[in-house]
Amino acid sequence: MLRTVIAATAALGLAAGCAPDSTAPVKVSALVLSSNGQYVPQEVELKTISDIVGLKGTVADLQGGARIVIDPNDPDLNNATTPEGYANALLKNRGRDVSANYISQGGVLWPADFHTWNMVTAYYSLERAYDYFRVVGNIPAADFKEPVTTYYFPEFVLTEVDKDPLSDNAMYFSVLESFMVLPFDQLQRAPLAINAGVIAHEYAHRVFNLKAYGGQQFPDALTTWQMAGASPGANILKSFDEGLADYHAYGATCQTTQGGKGCDTRFFSTSFHGNTYGQITEDRDLARVDRCMDVSLLNQLYNQNLSVFSGNEYRVGTLLASALYQAGEATGQRDVLLRAIIASYNDESTVTPGLFQLQRMTIADQSRFTLAVAASAIITHITDLRLKEAVCNELMDHLQIPRDQLVGNDPNMCPPSSAGGTTCPRLNL
Ligand SMILES: [Zn+2]
Repeated sequence: MLRTVIAATAALGLAAGCAPDSTAPVKVSALVLSSNGQYVPQEVELKTISDIVGLKGTVADLQGGARIVIDPNDPDLNNATTPEGYANALLKNRGRDVSANYISQGGVLWPADFHTWNMVTAYYSLERAYDYFRVVGNIPAADFKEPVTTYYFPEFVLTEVDKDPLSDNAMYFSVLESFMVLPFDQLQRAPLAINAGVIAHEYAHRVFNLKAYGGQQFPDALTTWQMAGASPGANILKSFDEGLADYHAYGATCQTTQGGKGCDTRFFSTSFHGNTYGQITEDRDLARVDRCMDVSLLNQLYNQNLSVFSGNEYRVGTLLASALYQAGEATGQRDVLLRAIIASYNDESTVTPGLFQLQRMTIADQSRFTLAVAASAIITHITDLRLKEAVCNELMDHLQIPRDQLVGNDPNMCPPSSAGGTTCPRLNL
């Protein structure tokens, strides 16, 4: 489908006879979530774009027509000995620059076809996510590295799942250091490329990789810990990665410098709705206050291998995200908390080590990388005592982290006044 559209838009582009001015900022019309819950055309500025036709700028570089295959029986993969070799083996076709097509009207570029609407909106959402992490997250611009290759509508085949290319998904794929926005099939109301919350969630995975995994394509701790029978450390890392991505995506929806609906705990709802998919929206809604860790989930977290645990990282992640959400909202310190979380990813201080450093310290024995240890990275990076206490209480309550593992002699950890909450039944472990 993409090939036909690109051919068609190229022909139209020639007929129009001129290339749009590419110098940032560029005024374009993109699809933005409005207060009535619909994505509608809105004039926005792309501040980081250098090539408006190829949709390339300092934040992202969109590529169309790629083919990526993960097949355990692929000899190319099995012969790969380096991360680069592995990435090259997966990438059966690198694709090419996309070619967006516009109609210029009063200094604003209007997308002239569906894919251009979709791609411009995806770039705009990536730029907003980048802005969120730079401004709220306090991450220096240089730390984001080069523009992220973003495979738009690639053929992505996971032979262990399906011989045909997958659809209806978006992801950050650390092996290729790239985003992938897959073609849609069922999710037609707001395809994932258009859902700003989903794009911000994926961008959060990129930031987690850059900071909490030190930018490794194959994070050391994940790789090492997955090889054990039970992989609690890997399960906890994956759960934190997912939960924090949801909380940051929510934080990004609150940045409404260019209009939009504002803070949205149900940012999945415009894409995931109805009988088949609506449950995803309910399951991930951060504003639900009654989620609790249970004995079965806790046992799975600590005793299963990641390959078996897979899928549950979203359940544990949502417990973490909604606990943090409640603490941030109740104290009115959402942005302070979000910034502390990002500071907790990577910190060489021996007093307040970051998640990356805690993995390194426990890599030989993942049983030491507990929920309490992972949570300690966040807690020690919160300086405000009232916020710290609120976070501690919510984590003791919803994640059932034992109080004595969070309160102790370390003045950077939970204050003695933290007593946990009363929403969840205390698990007797
Ligand atoms: Zn995710």
